[in-house]
Amino acid sequence: MQTKQRPFFKDRILTAGPTPVPEFVTSAMSSSLCYHRSPTFSAIMQDCRSLLPKIFGSKQEALIFSGSGTLAMEGAIANFLNSGDKVIAVNGGKFGARWAEQARCYGCDVQEIIVERGKAVDLEQIEALMKEHPEAKALLLHSSETSTGVRHDIKGASKLAHALDDCLMMVDGITSVGVFEIPMDKWGVDVMVGGSQKAMMLPPGLAFGCASERAWQRSEKCKNVRYYMDWRKEKKASAKNTGAFTSAVTLVGGLRAVLRHYDEVGFENVFRRNWKMCAATRASAEAMGFELLVKNISEASAACTALKVNSSHEKILKNNYSLTLSGGQDELKGKIVRVAHMGFIDGWDLLSSLLGLARCAQMAGDKIDLQKGVEVFWKVIDDPSDATPEDLKNA
Ligand SMILES: *Cc1c(COP(=O)(O)O)cnc(C)c1O
Repeated sequence: MQTKQRPFFKDRILTAGPTPVPEFVTSAMSSSLCYHRSPTFSAIMQDCRSLLPKIFGSKQEALIFSGSGTLAMEGAIANFLNSGDKVIAVNGGKFGARWAEQARCYGCDVQEIIVERGKAVDLEQIEALMKEHPEAKALLLHSSETSTGVRHDIKGASKLAHALDDCLMMVDGITSVGVFEIPMDKWGVDVMVGGSQKAMMLPPGLAFGCASERAWQRSEKCKNVRYYMDWRKEKKASAKNTGAFTSAVTLVGGLRAVLRHYDEVGFENVFRRNWKMCAATRASAEAMGFELLVKNISEASAACTALKVNSSHEKILKNNYSLTLSGGQDELKGKIVRVAHMGFIDGWDLLSSLLGLARCAQMAGDKIDLQKGVEVFWKVIDDPSDATPEDLKNA
């Protein structure tokens, strides 16, 4: 749709969620409108059940919930923790803060590690807190903190959790499930949640959850009141290729299309592509003269990259050029803009985001080297070698 003020620009939404939805997904959604207890829907569920665990890197059932990602985060707390349980939570941004808050709501004794925005958590800090609280029942950590674009070391943190007697490794993977590899079984992740509207290039409305054998055993001892959010009900239903309640049939139909697409392309290739886009964004932004919030790619998420800014460029982009990008949240408001590079977002989209931000920076009087930025962008994109950070290469 063209806006009245600036007919030169189409509305573009290139935020860190919801992300653009491709046409093959919307058409799969409209053609999957069916009765939720029909063979048609069972066939859709069966396909999702066989493909979704692949993205989680788990042999366990990956559950599909109707609701936004926060529902699955809350479900993870409600199903695997008890009131009074000691929990270690890493708060390195808006979403880490939210999970800690949810755990407190359920009566958990939350030991929070506040991490400077833009930095990954120091594993030694987790280890020290675990020494103090060896009875901790869970470590809550984000594989990708979308509010800053930081990637925390899940593999290393998981080792620490497993060194305790009975501590579940719980991961918010809402912007990593489908973006980069977090092999649950291999790394010993006990619970991981995902969502539909970020990497999975679906509209908002679905959340995912996957749990290890030892987490499922814990769930039997869990005393929280839960009905709609009882993951055990959903697991039983899923085993019969259906949902416990009325499934969001059209979204699940879209999910099948996305999973089939990713499977066809190859999950590793999807992840590799996202890292390349991340590397190109980082290099290009730096060459233009922007400062990155996350200094090193070894701590960066392949979901989005935060550029430091002096004012709310995202407001100018939206008002003047019909381009919607994610600004900073809470204490980062007006200080960063996030360039998303996951899901259906492609190289031309990235250039739009980068050139738009460069335009705003120039208007604000910053010195921007546009030519160098674009040259570096193409150099990284056209370079045939991988851009995956070292620790993920060895996953
Ligand atoms: C978006 C997001 C959430 C919240 O998901 P909703 O779908 O908005 O409920 C939680 N965690 C992370 C890491 C996210 O990116």
